[in-house]
Amino acid sequence: MADPSRIYDVAVVGAGPAGASCAYRLAQAGLDVALLDQKVPPRYKTCGGGLVWRARQLLELDLNGTIEHECHVAELFLLDAGLEFRVEHAKPLVTMTMRAELDHRIVERACAAGVELLVPRRVRGVEQSEASVQIESDGGPVVARYCVAADGAGSRTARAAGWPENENVIPAIESEIRVAPADFKRFSGRARFDFGLTPSGYAWVFPKRDHLSIGCLSRLRGWNALREDLDTYLNHLDLVEHGSREDHGFVIPIGPRSDELMRGRVLLIGDAAGLADPVTCEGISWAILSGHLAADALVANRRSPEATRFDYDRRLDSELLPELRTARRLARWLYERPRLRRVAFRHFGQPLCNLFGQVFLGRASYRGLLRRPRNYLKLTGRLLGLS
Ligand SMILES: Cc1cc2nc3c(=O)[nH]c(=O)nc-3n(C[C@H](O)[C@H](O)[C@H](O)COP(=O)(O)OP(=O)(O)OC[C@H]3O[C@@H](n4cnc5c(N)ncnc54)[C@H](O)[C@@H]3O)c2cc1C
Repeated sequence: MADPSRIYDVAVVGAGPAGASCAYRLAQAGLDVALLDQKVPPRYKTCGGGLVWRARQLLELDLNGTIEHECHVAELFLLDAGLEFRVEHAKPLVTMTMRAELDHRIVERACAAGVELLVPRRVRGVEQSEASVQIESDGGPVVARYCVAADGAGSRTARAAGWPENENVIPAIESEIRVAPADFKRFSGRARFDFGLTPSGYAWVFPKRDHLSIGCLSRLRGWNALREDLDTYLNHLDLVEHGSREDHGFVIPIGPRSDELMRGRVLLIGDAAGLADPVTCEGISWAILSGHLAADALVANRRSPEATRFDYDRRLDSELLPELRTARRLARWLYERPRLRRVAFRHFGQPLCNLFGQVFLGRASYRGLLRRPRNYLKLTGRLLGLS
């Protein structure tokens, strides 16, 4: 039970990568921080657990012991076009983790920096006053000068603070599946992505230490045949379970909850803010980055909510939102125009895959692709049969 008379500088709700990274950064800057979560870590989280290299760099954390597999190779299959591509890099393009262990490691670092972990605490509401925020939770109230909502796509905290439900969420399903040793070997060592099976989406195989994480997602809101799609995918891969199989479904928010990500004394970050990548649907690196931006804005301006909001908006506008806006445009092309996708990949598949590899590595941006007029013109010209 937290001391009811204590007023934290910041209470962060949700100990996923967004919340735990934000709490760590705040504590490092000397702020008094509480980190609340409804579950006691380590806890299962429905996720592929694939960390792109960019996310690893943002984390700046020794992941020894939590890494299940490092994939230096990524493969892309366009099943509806009979095309396949492969990208290989000296750095792991995707580092496979189980989220329970990964998130626990990030939380442990935050606690070592002085963050007070309050678990299990399911947050039910927030009350804002002029000088503070009271967070209502199962274990009693917690009072802080600011509250950071990092409680995922369904964020109860955001809703309690007056934001609407995020409608930009898409369904995804993940199966933790044990397969026969020969099959396990067949899919080891690389991250595999398949387009052309799930409508307006893709499927993936991520190798873990002793099993495969296989999933699929669709950008069609409310699509309710993912389980069937997953079974079709397993058949396509000629995989049968061999031991156990556990399926988990959840949603991925691929659009911001609203134009304003801070209201009064409450800031939104990560999935609570709706900041997953609309192209890859990767959310961990954006969760960490938004956690950093919110922490930096709070550290620089904590005496004034108005100045904090202005600064958080400015940081989001310069470092995060434009890239996700461009990603949204690209995603429309990639998912909603399968014919154009097939033609583009037939002509430029390998360079496009190389570019996605560079985005995973944090060395290129979607904006860079669309801004470079030569790339753009070349692509358009070829598609129109002009060159
Ligand atoms: C099937 C699937 C596969 C995915 N695969 C990948 C992948 O491979 N790579 C990738 O980068 N992204 C992936 N994502 C997206 C990724 O999981 C999210 O973007 C990421 O977890 C966002 O982190 P977060 O910290 O914002 O929120 P979360 O990780 O969702 O953490 C939220 C935390 O808040 C806590 N919480 C929730 N409600 C309350 C409450 N009321 N009170 C207190 N605590 C609460 C939860 O227990 C949780 O610990 C996937 C998503 C899905 C659904």
